Amino acid sequence: MDPTRWSNGISRRRVLQSMVLAGAAAMLPRSFAATPPTRRLGVALVGLGGYSRDLLAPALQLTRHCRLAGVVTGSPEKVPVWQETYGIPDANVYSYDDFHRIADNPDIDVVYIVTPNHLHKPQTLIAANAGKHVWCEKPMAMDASEGEAMIQACRDNRVQLAIGYRMQHEPNTRRFIEMARERPFGNIVQLRADAGWFGWRQGADEAWRLDPARGGGAMYDMGVYCVNAARYSTGLEPVAVRAWDETARREIFRDVDETMRFTLEFPDDIVAQCVTSFGRNLNTLHVDCERGWYELSPFQSYDGNVGRASDGTRFTAQLGERPRMQAEQMDQDALAILESRPPRAPGEDGLHDMRVLDAVFASARGGNERVQIAR
Ligand code: NAD
Repeated sequence: MDPTRWSNGISRRRVLQSMVLAGAAAMLPRSFAATPPTRRLGVALVGLGGYSRDLLAPALQLTRHCRLAGVVTGSPEKVPVWQETYGIPDANVYSYDDFHRIADNPDIDVVYIVTPNHLHKPQTLIAANAGKHVWCEKPMAMDASEGEAMIQACRDNRVQLAIGYRMQHEPNTRRFIEMARERPFGNIVQLRADAGWFGWRQGADEAWRLDPARGGGAMYDMGVYCVNAARYSTGLEPVAVRAWDETARREIFRDVDETMRFTLEFPDDIVAQCVTSFGRNLNTLHVDCERGWYELSPFQSYDGNVGRASDGTRFTAQLGERPRMQAEQMDQDALAILESRPPRAPGEDGLHDMRVLDAVFASARGGNERVQIAR
């Protein structure tokens, strides 16, 4: 979830209504109506909640290598507006019960799973066994063992698995990934990655974010941004973690973490200090090196990710306004399929993060004990 999402006071419902009224297609620049250079992959979105509705479906109107072809939903009342807005034929509409029949649909190449986190593994298995490529939202799964099963299912069915790590498609973030290799300011000494958003509306339809059985809590939702950023900013895998959780609003966060603080130990004595929260707006990635520093703040927003470095370098926003980043992500992941090469954020990337999350939760349960991260 984007921490900026409530900040302008516009609810998701209003965004949808305005999109539908305006006609999503009419909101697109003319240049995107041009003939695509390659076959465009048909994408079916699974789960028509906030992220599908407000970001991914509009982004799929901007993509050149894939298109919104179908939906899988447990909410039949949502179907007419989706069909009308995006011209989705009856034959490409599925419920969770008949989802497996997507195997017989040549119009769908990719299934994009955008449901609560506990459903990522079972739905990935259904999609992979149906012979469809899988894009899966973060966090990849509930734990590393689920992630392993997802990777195996995609391997067995010879389909790709890409995780929806949209930041890895953002140019400034891609520069940080390069700098992990180039080390322009000397060796990395330490980094800070903070990701969170403040707010909670009682009775919101996203109650699953408060439910441990469905993958609720700040660590699953926003903590993965810190973990992924710490890994891509160093180009290294962390070896151990200490974590502790804090809850300020017990009346809301009875069963899941409101705030998680954790310290990741990397090889070469690099340390990453991370905070993730549902109680604070946090959005900074700062890397300290032997001879300088660089940072992005914000570093995981839907747009406007900017930063600077100690030598005066400015990292300016490059992709344009939302949902350009999601369009870039899906185009890149579609090209990986069309060109038979690995996606930028494959299942293995998600699995590394799940191993870290397993260790974070174990450390927090153990009262901040040092926990080694599985390899
Ligand atoms: P949401 O609550 O807005 O939507 C979830 C959808 O899943 C709803 O349509 C709901 O009806 C459906 N659903 C199916 N089974 C359900 C069940 N058992 N319980 C609850 N809902 C069920 O959530 P969202 O914000 O769209 O998030 C969906 C996924 O996308 C999550 O994994 C989340 O982490 C991810 N996400 C990623 C980003 C990103 O920037 N990459 C942003 C937002 C969400």
